[in-house]
Amino acid sequence: MQQIWYYSTNQKLNFAKKQVPVSLQTALFQGLADDEGLFMPSEIPTFPPDFLKNLSNKPYAEVAFQVLRLFTQAEIPDNQLLSICRSAYNFPIPMENLPPAPSEGGGGSLTPDPSPKEREEIPPPPSEGAGGRLEGAGGKLWLARLDQGPTASFKDFAARFMARAMQYFQKPDEKLTILVATSGDTGGAVGEAFKGLAGTQVFILYPIQEVSPIQKKQLDTIGDNVQAIAIDGKFDDCQNFVKQAFGDSDFAALRLSSANSINIGRVLPQVVYYVYMYLQVAENEEEIIFCVPSGNLGNSLGCEVARRMGLPIKKLIIGSNENKAFPVFLQSGDYQKISPSINCISNAMNVGNPSNLARYFELFGGMVDKNGIVHHQPDWATMQKHLAGYYVSDEATRQTMHRYWQQGILLEPHGAVGVKAYEDFIVQNPDYQDFKAIIVETAHPAKFTEMMQEILQVKPEMPQALANMLTRPEKVVYLPNDYGTIKNFILESSNSL
Ligand SMILES: *Cc1c(COP(=O)(O)O)cnc(C)c1O
Repeated sequence: MQQIWYYSTNQKLNFAKKQVPVSLQTALFQGLADDEGLFMPSEIPTFPPDFLKNLSNKPYAEVAFQVLRLFTQAEIPDNQLLSICRSAYNFPIPMENLPPAPSEGGGGSLTPDPSPKEREEIPPPPSEGAGGRLEGAGGKLWLARLDQGPTASFKDFAARFMARAMQYFQKPDEKLTILVATSGDTGGAVGEAFKGLAGTQVFILYPIQEVSPIQKKQLDTIGDNVQAIAIDGKFDDCQNFVKQAFGDSDFAALRLSSANSINIGRVLPQVVYYVYMYLQVAENEEEIIFCVPSGNLGNSLGCEVARRMGLPIKKLIIGSNENKAFPVFLQSGDYQKISPSINCISNAMNVGNPSNLARYFELFGGMVDKNGIVHHQPDWATMQKHLAGYYVSDEATRQTMHRYWQQGILLEPHGAVGVKAYEDFIVQNPDYQDFKAIIVETAHPAKFTEMMQEILQVKPEMPQALANMLTRPEKVVYLPNDYGTIKNFILESSNSL
């Protein structure tokens, strides 16, 4: 049985105090390596023969089990992993056909925004059922909606696995404190996933100015063992707080653990849906394209890991909003973090210096530290071969939402960034148009009701889970962006739990 160890992305820096690789269990609970690097698997397992063939037509939980066990088999027995996957994954991934992206000009990036007058005259398309499902439509381009979990974002996939894996490892008499910084969706997904778990408390830090009203409601009303902390600051500040707290011995008694996208327990389950989606559209193990709207780069990293495991991926397109540090790097080879991060309407992607960049650099033989300083340049030519990065302005995001809504396809801002990034890629690389492609929609439009109304004048229907949450009581405090104040609050309130 193959044991995979987890080492730190900072190992190249720290020859003197080299961090010993740890087990998955340790990496899960520790979150960040002792040297403040991110954990990486010592080896990326590859699919055994006929792996994909044997998985075609299998339900999601089965695909998850087969993919994840390649990483976990030495530490989680198969029957346990299977029941974790079955209880975590009880929701579908709807995939809608999209019309082909224009390969030059017309309707693509070069089309001017219709004037507001024209917009008003466009009759609103039907809100239900538009866009053919996987069967039948026959196109080559799909939008995969990863928004059917309990908190209506793709983060449910990772959070639900991670909470269950941690619960599996946790000893009954141990206390565990989850500290999570969120730009909107992580906190909700993680909070819901850990809610009610004995011996566990969760603190969710979020930037009050940067979350949508629905996201805020969702974070504030989880309740029970989950405390929301609204910070008068930016997402990067919340993230920095978490990083600093991990190095602070005053927190030792709480047994801190992070559930951010820096936790390796978040990355592994995000490999699975690429395999699953691939199986929905591929006929002959042909190469396909994925396009992923990205902020902290955890979601897209799952796709890159899937490729290394053996998933036939022609290209991974990474879309960002105006926080474009990674796309610019992929285009120019020069990494410059964006500081402070820029507030864009795709708010869950307002990340100026993505954490998972360190993992991307490591995978391609480079090294970048948490401050965005490049110590070793990665193999940029190979990166360019497999990855492409495009950034999308808010204006282009809005235009894309309009254009697709005219065809009956409802996109929220993050998904629209993904769609536009794919279009821009095709304009520059028209020969890739013949490849099947899957664009990932990362959240449900109803999470951004106000924005959908403002931009498209439509009110998306709420999934039941979101509707229920509107009536729950709140458990939130408002704190200044000050390390000491936040720290004291957490220490005090965790004593009283
Ligand atoms: C978190 C999030 C993203 C960004 O995902 P990363 O893994 O940080 O790149 C994109 N869209 C939505 C809706 C999100 O919640």
